[in-house]
Amino acid sequence: MSYDIAELPEDGEPITVADEDTGELDVPANPIIPIIHGDGIGTDVGPAAQQVLDAAAEATGRSIAWMRVYAGESAREKYDENMPEETVRAIREHRVAIKGPLTTPVGSGFRSLNVALRKVLDLYANVRPTYHLDGVPSPVKNPEEMDMITFRENTEDVYAGIEWEAGTDEVEKVREFVEDEMGADGVIHDGPVGIGIKPITEFGSKRLIREAIDYAVANGRDSVTLVHKGNIMKFTEGQFRDWGYEVAEEEYGDDVVTEDELWEEYDGEQPDGTVVVKDRIADNMLQQLLTRTSDYSVIATMNLNGDYMSDAAGAQIGGLGIAPGVNFGHGKALAEPVHGSAPKYAGQDKVNPTAMILSGREMLDYLGWSDAADLVRDAVEAQISSGRVTYDLERQIEGGEKLATSEFAEEVVERIHDLA
Ligand code: NAP
Repeated sequence: MSYDIAELPEDGEPITVADEDTGELDVPANPIIPIIHGDGIGTDVGPAAQQVLDAAAEATGRSIAWMRVYAGESAREKYDENMPEETVRAIREHRVAIKGPLTTPVGSGFRSLNVALRKVLDLYANVRPTYHLDGVPSPVKNPEEMDMITFRENTEDVYAGIEWEAGTDEVEKVREFVEDEMGADGVIHDGPVGIGIKPITEFGSKRLIREAIDYAVANGRDSVTLVHKGNIMKFTEGQFRDWGYEVAEEEYGDDVVTEDELWEEYDGEQPDGTVVVKDRIADNMLQQLLTRTSDYSVIATMNLNGDYMSDAAGAQIGGLGIAPGVNFGHGKALAEPVHGSAPKYAGQDKVNPTAMILSGREMLDYLGWSDAADLVRDAVEAQISSGRVTYDLERQIEGGEKLATSEFAEEVVERIHDLA
């Protein structure tokens, strides 16, 4: 492991794989963890999260040997490129890492570095827990009803990046092929067109859905909902749903019942210890999140639906400043908040670091440090309940006090010391 610009910390040891088949890790008490602070507000929330995670590790008799790695703007300064090879390699070699947001230009310019990183490291499941912390203001009446975890497929769908720009020779070739050879004559309007392809594979769908059902079974969750738009996109989103039921029926035996079976065979009474597998159409699902929140527990869905749904669900539990996420592959994880780089707030020591801190909490959990993970959650919850919060929550809490990002993080660290 040698790096030109990134520095390998001397006081840490690498995480290794204990079992190649299961992906189980061997985690030392002082693991080396690569961190990308990220663009925009990443420079505020990255260091804040680092400080809180250090405190939780130390309070439980461990330490984290951080390895700063670079992507986006910071990489352009140091390497003159957006995504240096050694950043990708550091994350691959050390298996568990955390990143802040990275900016993606809209329309033209380079493609999303976030999407590229998930793809190149084959981090195929983007997992976004949405649960309510006591004291967090919410636009809904009963935010505590939301306790959901979204498994979003990370490597395919319209995010695969197979698309052609209007006005190019390539797009005209694709148009000709689709119209002349694939029976879509007259479907595309005349004039300039942009075309994208939406691959949904059996392999990609089933491994994601397996992760979601495994999680539900292991954690005593009562249902997994397959979210799709299969009424319209029959051969992609509809097929995802069908593959989902296939996995459930062929691989999980008595651990799962489908929603149809639940009514046909059990009169709607869920047998103890089972997971109900059901499906919902995506547009209906977005309203069900609001109207029947507690009916949903684990969600398995494709890339684009998952992106929309997790922001909408995040709003119900306090907004993007709160919502954490983590990307999983086989024996590897990259934690990252749901929010973006919010450039208008960059470098102002203003935004809420909770989403990045709670993403770190997911990372600690993945390391098997559940005591440290619980400390982080309890300390953040206690801090928010005190009303001493960043601008986004303060504007919604009567009598709340506004703190800077760094002040909020320092107070969470103090609470970790008190709770430990
Ligand atoms: P955004 O950066 O998530 O910000 C949208 C709004 O959400 C902000 O204006 C702010 O709302 C609120 N917000 C986000 N993070 C917050 C925090 N930590 N604390 C408090 N409030 C927070 O979304 P965007 O403006 O659409 O995207 C900006 C850039 O980020 C784009 O280049 C996009 O591609 C990129 N992005 C990256 C990722 C990623 O790295 N995974 C994810 C999404 C977007 P108020 O102004 O109302 O307070």
